[in-house]
Amino acid sequence: MTTHHRLPDTRSGLVIETHDLPRRAGSMKQVRRTADAPDELGIGVIGVPPHSPIELDLRLEAVGEGVLVTGTAEVQLTGECTRCLKPLSDTDTVDIQELFYYPGNGPDDDEAARIAGELIDLEPLLRDAVVLDLPFSPLCRDDCAGLCPQCGANLNDEPDHDHAETADSRWAGLATWSSGEAEHVAGDIPAQDEE
Ligand SMILES: [Zn+2]
Ligand SMILES: [Zn+2]
Repeated sequence: MTTHHRLPDTRSGLVIETHDLPRRAGSMKQVRRTADAPDELGIGVIGVPPHSPIELDLRLEAVGEGVLVTGTAEVQLTGECTRCLKPLSDTDTVDIQELFYYPGNGPDDDEAARIAGELIDLEPLLRDAVVLDLPFSPLCRDDCAGLCPQCGANLNDEPDHDHAETADSRWAGLATWSSGEAEHVAGDIPAQDEE
């Protein structure tokens, strides 16, 4: 991921300064702020609208090799019910817990979260936390009845909806047509016989 190699953008509310957090085990700092949601945070059917408010409530604590970030992020969600396609909106609170290593500390691993230029970028962490927390098949309610497979009517609005009557009258029409045809044919045969 290239995010580890460029410096975090300090204009983002998801980037936190650590220069005021003494590099001494036990020093702490509280961060409560509203950040702008980044683009494309979510999965196809549900996600966080770009620029919607993310409420951060975090505690930063200096530990031996880095800064431990714990707390919550509350995000707005919009999407649609995967059964009836009704628009959904909700909020989701995800837990945040990650150790951001000081430069040169921690495992020699690209996946390790790192402090870059005294900055902590919460975005990759938040992305993982939110996406893992999203339902793959969001529903407007657990027992959503979905849409009629024949005509698309919302079955939540029309619990008695069904096509039995239509099917019956079609069959009835077909039966009438068949018997009429049968009579017609039957009527023709004697006429042909007479010729
Ligand atoms: Zn639904
Ligand atoms: Zn229908």
